[in-house]
Amino acid sequence: MDFQFSPEDDLFRRELRNFVESELPDNWEGGGRWPEEWDWDFTMSLRKKLAAKGWLTMHWPKEYGGQSASPIKSAIYNEELAYMRAPGRDIFGVRMLGPTLMIHGTEEQKKVHLPPISRGEIQWCQGYSEPESGSDLASLATRAVLDDDEYVLNGTKIWTTLGHRADWIFCLARTDPDAPKHRGISFLLIDMKTPGIEVRPIINMAGGHEFNQVIFDNVR
Ligand SMILES: Cc1cc2nc3c(=O)[nH]c(=O)nc-3n(C[C@H](O)[C@H](O)[C@H](O)COP(=O)(O)OP(=O)(O)OC[C@H]3O[C@@H](n4cnc5c(N)ncnc54)[C@H](O)[C@@H]3O)c2cc1C
Repeated sequence: MDFQFSPEDDLFRRELRNFVESELPDNWEGGGRWPEEWDWDFTMSLRKKLAAKGWLTMHWPKEYGGQSASPIKSAIYNEELAYMRAPGRDIFGVRMLGPTLMIHGTEEQKKVHLPPISRGEIQWCQGYSEPESGSDLASLATRAVLDDDEYVLNGTKIWTTLGHRADWIFCLARTDPDAPKHRGISFLLIDMKTPGIEVRPIINMAGGHEFNQVIFDNVR
């Protein structure tokens, strides 16, 4: 197996590095441990520029607006941005929700949610962990009950990274309490502006704000 980077890979690395360096402020040292929090407007503006270059979702299939870029090219992208401690990457939308929707989503969900992710316009967060449910995620207690054609959601999520910045949350909730614990769980997509959602900050020991508690109180 040949682990050398190809000339195209090297060229891409140089182009990416030059571009990002030209976008970062002079004497950039990374904006703290959590670069995204340094300046959220800057984070989103750089994300949109990376998207406009076609890099943000370049590893996505062409049919969803990507370039079907190789894993090596994708690794170079992540390595360079991490090395420069540049904000703008997107784990929740680009790396978690997008691929999930491509495989399991309806055509409508793909049409509505994939384009804003690939344009770098939206922030998603992940609502899995709960105060009493971590590694044993199948014990989750957040409940979604169908009322006519709407789910009514009640429960609490915790450690929700970027919940205070997110536009939408993908969230696990129990929809069939009679099923075995590891079944009867649904994956719901919820607009964070929906009435009944409260986001409580969790400040870590270093004074940083990455995590949140997200409370759902009769959210429809
Ligand atoms: C940086 C970071 C970001 C995160 N962001 C998010 C997020 O955005 N959204 C989200 O939903 N969650 C998030 N989490 C939460 C993370 O997924 C949970 O921390 C994880 O699920 C573990 O749950 P817990 O913290 O309750 O630990 P616990 O499950 O209570 O585990 C505590 C300890 O007990 C051990 N343990 C647990 N069960 C067993 C067992 N059966 N046998 C032996 N040992 C066991 C574990 O290995 C661990 O050492 C984040 C966590 C971190 C660190």
